[in-house]
Amino acid sequence: MIRAEIIVIGGGIAGISAAARAAEAGAKTIVLEREPHIGNHSTARSAAVFIANYGNKTLRAINAASGPILVAPAGIAEISLLSPRGVLTIADGDELDDMAAMEADATGLQSLTAAEATALMPILRPEKIVAANYEADAQDIDVDLMLNGFAKMLRRHGGEVVTGAEVLHISHEVEWEITTKSGVYTAPIVINAAGAWGDVVAQMARVRPVGLQPMRRSIAILPVPEALNVMRWPLVGTASDRWYSKPTAGRLMVSPADEDPVAPHDAWPDDMVLAEGLDRFEQATTLPVTRVERSWAGLRSFVADRTLVAGFAPDAPGFFWLVGQGGYGVQTAPAMAQLAADLTLGNAPKLPDWVVNALSPKRFSS
Ligand SMILES: Cc1cc2nc3c(=O)[nH]c(=O)nc-3n(C[C@H](O)[C@H](O)[C@H](O)COP(=O)(O)OP(=O)(O)OC[C@H]3O[C@@H](n4cnc5c(N)ncnc54)[C@H](O)[C@@H]3O)c2cc1C
Repeated sequence: MIRAEIIVIGGGIAGISAAARAAEAGAKTIVLEREPHIGNHSTARSAAVFIANYGNKTLRAINAASGPILVAPAGIAEISLLSPRGVLTIADGDELDDMAAMEADATGLQSLTAAEATALMPILRPEKIVAANYEADAQDIDVDLMLNGFAKMLRRHGGEVVTGAEVLHISHEVEWEITTKSGVYTAPIVINAAGAWGDVVAQMARVRPVGLQPMRRSIAILPVPEALNVMRWPLVGTASDRWYSKPTAGRLMVSPADEDPVAPHDAWPDDMVLAEGLDRFEQATTLPVTRVERSWAGLRSFVADRTLVAGFAPDAPGFFWLVGQGGYGVQTAPAMAQLAADLTLGNAPKLPDWVVNALSPKRFSS
């Protein structure tokens, strides 16, 4: 039996970053990860973008708190985790309501004409663009550097990641006792950072679930003619999430922006969903889709209000929720990790009270 002060279940970006901050603050912390490597599920499959205006008001406050840590990641990496990208959002005549909703309360957006939008991504068909805006501050995130930087921080402060350690059974008497494929662990505090499996882990521990719904999102990598010089293009998406694209290693990553509810699993793309999304992309651009080089899917897991869940469960002592990261779990991880460490160790959170309250799992009790 191995004892720690904090056991984290899940070695994605949420679990690893929270464990690193807890260890840095002096707590003996162990991460239990089912897979042979950390970051194998949603974390490895993201589009790796930081968008300050992404998500609701609570999310935007967390984005704002994460931004400076991503730019100057002291203790995580020697260089900024961000690099310039920009996000262009376009709308046709049917998408103007969605565009207005997206622009409400947003900061730093610049309105563009169809010609200006097309100048940023020359394969766009200008006749299909009725409105466009540009968020110049949106950035690419180096997810590998961030994940491995947090893992190094964890180890530097005496913490440990145990891979191949699928949690099979959880019980609580004086402390939590967690049985895995590779041993039994005990701790007074357990952080549930199991991503799409968050409610499965809660049920194992006899804790009331929060109604987590994993949603599949797919990505295809398309080859593009070298002459297009795609690497300077921004991420481009439509106001009603019909598709989005982003340059990556001289190719174009295109997502159908699908959001299909599924059970937690090792996700793969549905061919039909991918084909329909690529068709929507083709209609909006002059680039024919002749070949998909590779594709993948990942799970974005949300609770009903699409706000993250962070805080102690009201119905189980020492059981801490860190789930519901949806489509923003990478960019919010720096601030959420600090919050998880602060709350589990009884320190005053750096995020404002209204944000901490909005994240609390207590909202599911009433
Ligand atoms: C296509 C796509 C694009 C995205 N784009 C972006 C983006 O641009 N920016 C952004 O910020 N976010 C983006 N996201 C969202 C982001 O990837 C997720 O929010 C984030 O990775 C969630 O991290 P996590 O650690 O909670 O989950 P995961 O990375 O899934 O980690 C959870 C871990 O828990 C482990 N686990 C589960 N059950 C057990 C168990 N019983 N025992 C032991 N271990 C267990 C799993 O093996 C897994 O490794 C995107 C997601 C997708 C799918």
